[in-house]
This record gives sequence, C-alpha cells and structure tokens, in this order.
Amino acid sequence: MAIRDILTVPDPRLKEVSKPVEGGVTDEIRALMDDMLETMYAAPGIGLAAIQIGVPLRVIVMDLAKEDEEPAPRYFVNPEILPLTEDTAPYEEGCLSVPEVYDEVERPTECRIRYLDYDGKEVEEVATDLFAVCIQHEMDHLEGTLFIDYLSRLKRQRAVDKVKKAQRAKARDAA
Ligand code: ZN
Repeated sequence: MAIRDILTVPDPRLKEVSKPVEGGVTDEIRALMDDMLETMYAAPGIGLAAIQIGVPLRVIVMDLAKEDEEPAPRYFVNPEILPLTEDTAPYEEGCLSVPEVYDEVERPTECRIRYLDYDGKEVEEVATDLFAVCIQHEMDHLEGTLFIDYLSRLKRQRAVDKVKKAQRAKARDAA
C-alpha cells in the first residue's frame, strides 16, 4: 500500500468524468482501493474518489466509523445511485480536494445505491444520514462535480483562492 498525492482545486483532472471499471474487481483494482484507503486515512478524511488521486475510474472508498470505533472501510466499484425521496437536508460538507473549506450543501436524505464491493460482489442498499451525504458527494466526483460547485460563484472563487494560497505557502515552506 502507498499514500498517493491528493489533487486539489483548481486541478483540471477533478473536472473529468470517470470511466467504469471494465472486467470486474481485479487485484489491480483492489490495490488501487488499498492505496486510496490508506491515502484517505492519512489525510484524514471519510471518503475518497479515485479521480482525487488522479485515476479517472469509478471507484470510491469510505469509512464513516467514529474515532472511538473500529475502522469500517467500505469500497464501491461502478456505483449507481437513485434518490429515494424529494426531501433534502443541508449538511456542512468538506472535501480533501478543497482543504479547509466547509459549507452547507442540500442533498436528498435517502438514496438507493448499487455497486460492486471489494470482492466484486454486487451489493444493493439504502443510504441515509451521513452515509447518504457522503456517497452523493463521492458520486459527484465521478461526474467531475465538486461540492463547491453548488455554492455561489463568489463563494466558489473564494474557496479556490484559499486553496491556491495555502498551496503556495506550502510550496514556499518546502523550498
Ligand atoms: Zn470530495
């Protein structure tokens, strides 16, 4: 396993639409998911899409366990999503590709998802609460959409500027 670099805005790759994984969940895909999980834990974050480490495939990892709970990694290959309600709720979201920026996004509170798990088995389940928020946020990454795209143009520009400024400071410190 290895920790990979996480792309941050305004990297144009984050706008790419990811492609389906062909040929099922192979060892190569499992190795990618292992790296993604390690990268996510190190960040730390609760969800990561493959495009965030520059791999444009429809693969997501997630772990919603609380700090005092056992790790509970989840893996989603070629996930499909269907909102189950028109009820929406706001949730303050963040993203490893937009570090240090948090803002409220409204999303449906319940959705059905279908995907292949780590072993390549097809799973169908209903997501609610934080799981519903997180899977919709990660699914958006597969379409090249970031949570800041739901904000006003001004807030979005401010978010990108903040990340760019932090990156420049980091580069200066490293030099
Ligand atoms: Zn994200």
